[in-house]
Amino acid sequence: MTSFPAPAHAVQDPGEPAGPRVLLVENSRAYANMLAAELRDRLQLEVVAVSSLAAAREALQAGPPFFLALTGLVLPDADPSRIARLLVGHGLPIVVVTGVYDEATREQMAELPIIDYVLKEAPDTIDYLVWLVRRVLSNRGITALVVEPPGPARAETSALLALYGFRVRELGSGTDGLEALATDSTIRLVVVEHDLPDMDGVEFTRRARQNRPRDILSIVGSATGGGAPRIARFLKHGANDFIGKPFSREEFMCRISQNVDNLELIGTLQDLATRDYLTGLANRRHFFDAGRRALASSRDEPVSMAMIDIDHFKHINDSHGHDAGDAALVAVANLIGAHAREGDVVARFGGEEFCVLARGLDEEEAVAYFQALCGSIAALEIPFRQRVLSLTVSIGICHRAGRDLYALLSEADRQLYLAKAAGRNRVALQSHVPA
Ligand code: GH3
Ligand code: MG
Ligand code: MG
Repeated sequence: MTSFPAPAHAVQDPGEPAGPRVLLVENSRAYANMLAAELRDRLQLEVVAVSSLAAAREALQAGPPFFLALTGLVLPDADPSRIARLLVGHGLPIVVVTGVYDEATREQMAELPIIDYVLKEAPDTIDYLVWLVRRVLSNRGITALVVEPPGPARAETSALLALYGFRVRELGSGTDGLEALATDSTIRLVVVEHDLPDMDGVEFTRRARQNRPRDILSIVGSATGGGAPRIARFLKHGANDFIGKPFSREEFMCRISQNVDNLELIGTLQDLATRDYLTGLANRRHFFDAGRRALASSRDEPVSMAMIDIDHFKHINDSHGHDAGDAALVAVANLIGAHAREGDVVARFGGEEFCVLARGLDEEEAVAYFQALCGSIAALEIPFRQRVLSLTVSIGICHRAGRDLYALLSEADRQLYLAKAAGRNRVALQSHVPA
C-alpha cells in the first residue's frame, strides 16, 4: 500500500459560494443568541446578529447577501418603520419578531412587504420561526406558477409568492399553463384563477392532474365568489386546496405553506427508503444499487472506490455530546457531497463511514482527488453552539477495474484499516491497474 498524509494547510476554495445567510436584528442579546443558536444548529445557516440600525446597515454592506431578515422593532437608534424600510430597501424579505404589536405599528407596516409578524412572548415562537425560515429557504428551490389573466390580482398573488422565496412564473391562459407544466419540472405549485379566457380553472386542474399527481404538484384553486359549489368542483377535480378572493396575507401564507409542506412530507416518505435521514446523502442500500449501475457502465475502465471514516469520532460524542457528533456528521457529509463530481456515487455507508465511487480518474488523479478531500475535511471548522469542532478522516482507496462491488469495497476497507494504522488523517491506496 501507499500512504499519503493529508496536506498540512489545505483550505477550502476561497471562490466557493457562501451558504445561505440570515440577518437577525434584535435589541435583546439574550433573545438574539438563543434564536441564532437554534437557526445555526437546526438549519446549518449562517446567522449574523446585530442590535442597532447602524450595525444592520454595516452588515448589509459587508459580505455576501442575506436571503432573509428577522427583525425586532425596538432599537436604540431607530423607530420601527426605519429599520423595516432599510431592510426592504435592500430587497430583503422580512419577518418581524416583536414584543409589542399594536394598531399604530400595524398601520405603519401595512404597506411593507413583510412575510409574517411573530409575537416573541407567544409559546413555541422559536420552533415556529425555525419552521418559517426553513420554509422560505426550501421555497427557493421551487417554481410557483400563477395561471390568471394579467391585472392587479395576479400581480398581488405573484408578489406574495416571490416574498416567500418562490421563483414565480405567470401565465394568462389555461393552454399556456398546461404547456408550462409539460416542459418545466421545477413547477411544484400552481395557483389557478377560476376565470380564464380559454377554459375555466376547474378544467385546467382536471387536465393538469392527468399527468401530474398530488405528490408531485400542488394545485390551489382561487376565485372571487362562486360559493361552496365552486370550491367543491375544484377539489373534486384534483385541486389540493382553494382560496377565496379577496384573501388576507396571513391566510394566503398559511395555505400555501401547508400545501408545500405536505408535498415535501410525501417526498420525504419516498426518500426515506433511499436516503440517510441525518445527512441527506444516499444510504447504503441505495449505494449498492447505484454502485452496481455505475460499474456496469464503466466498461472495464478502472474505478476508484473510497471508504472514508472519521478519526476518533467516538471522542467527539464523548466530549461534546451526541448532538455535536450529529452536527459533525452533517458537516462532513455536506463537504463530501460538495466535493463530488457529476457521476460520482456518494453515500453514508453507516455510522461515521462514507463511501465514494468515482470514475474516470487515473491513479495519480484519484490520490489527488481524495487527498484534497481529506485536507478540506481537516480544515473544516464546524460551529456547534458556542464551540467550533474540527476533525480528520482516513480514506482507503481501491483503484482498479472490476464489476464486483463487494470486492472493491472490501479492498477499500482494508486500505482504510492501513491508513488508520499509519497514523490517521491520510489516504491509503492500492492500485491494480495492468500497465
Ligand atoms: P477510529 O479513528 O478508529 O475510526 O475511531 P472512532 O472513534 O471513529 O471509531 P469507533 O468505531 O470506535 O466509533 C464510532 C462511533 O460513531 C461510535 C458510535 O457511537 C458513533 N456513531 C455512529 N453513528 C452515529 C450517529 O448517527 N450520530 C452520532 N452522534 N454518533 C454516531
Ligand atoms: Mg468506523
Ligand atoms: Mg471512525
